[in-house]
Amino acid sequence: MKTEKVRCLILGSGPAGYTAAIYASRANLNPVLYEGIQPGGQLTITTEVENFPGYPHGVTGTALMEDLRQQAARFGTDIRAGIATAAHLSASPYRITIDGEQTVETETLIIATGATAKYLGLADEQKYAGQGVSACATCDGFFYRKKTVAVVGGGDTACEEALYLSSLAAKVYLIVRKNYLRASMAMQQKVRETPNIHILFAHNAIGLYGENGVEGVHLLRRKGEPDEEQVSLPIDGFFLAIGHTPNSGLFKEWLDTDETGYIQTLPGSPCTKLPGVFAAGDVADPHYRQAITAAASGCKAAMEADRYLLATK
Ligand code: NDP
Repeated sequence: MKTEKVRCLILGSGPAGYTAAIYASRANLNPVLYEGIQPGGQLTITTEVENFPGYPHGVTGTALMEDLRQQAARFGTDIRAGIATAAHLSASPYRITIDGEQTVETETLIIATGATAKYLGLADEQKYAGQGVSACATCDGFFYRKKTVAVVGGGDTACEEALYLSSLAAKVYLIVRKNYLRASMAMQQKVRETPNIHILFAHNAIGLYGENGVEGVHLLRRKGEPDEEQVSLPIDGFFLAIGHTPNSGLFKEWLDTDETGYIQTLPGSPCTKLPGVFAAGDVADPHYRQAITAAASGCKAAMEADRYLLATK
């Protein structure tokens, strides 16, 4: 297998990966960046991004990511298509296999592989992608001002998304499959005290309908019970908040992860327990998951990589 030696390897091409690349390039670390499964990351599947500083009129997710890519390329990042398929982090230099056919040996590794929102697996989620189906209220909520939306899930994320949407939309339905919320008591209380949030317990979404985008959701009430029934609920937007899966599988053998799989770093820093290995963006962030927070952690990761290389010279 062909082996290449580099000083800084970045995995992932979302805001964390590209920001790490910009900083690492400018620090002369000659970074190599592999784009991964979804070049440009999760932002490429949202529509308009209106909360990223520096874009007063908003920007599409794809345009923002193209800007970041060009900025990283301008400073010399070697950006390549390819997916990390194996990791060997037992000792430095760390070894990453790309596409199962090539090994990169690196002194520093920045893992910015992101997270993937979970979907229910309904065919209609694909059919209405970008037309009323979203997995990010902060990204897309603004388009539902004074409209009716539904959020699926009963955890902290779902409650947070419902609360966020309640300040924009006229009405928010929280579709919860069980008879109770899993969210923290404080979050539950906030949701219950918000007059325009209506919780539908024991409801499962089974399909969506609409001519031009989502116009409603088909629900199964009390699934599996003798009085199970199907109901339809008119809505304009359908938000999934049933959890995210961090793309950390390759690294679990070598790094600490929490029970969901998020890579654990020193609080407030991208440093993992391995010297020279950093985790930035959503793969290490169960809480904020914003483009700007991912970008900031990518910046920190590159700065830490630079410091590490200087210290180990
Ligand atoms: P959780 O795993 O906590 O909750 C997922 C929710 O989605 C549950 O209510 C679950 O239902 C529901 N769900 C899962 N799959 C399906 C499905 N197929 N159909 C219908 N419903 C489904 O994920 P979260 O993203 O909410 O939270 C992840 C972690 O992040 C938690 O530890 C949470 O506390 C934390 N967090 C903290 C925040 C804060 O402190 N501000 C904000 C956001 C998250 P069921 O209960 O039936 O399994």
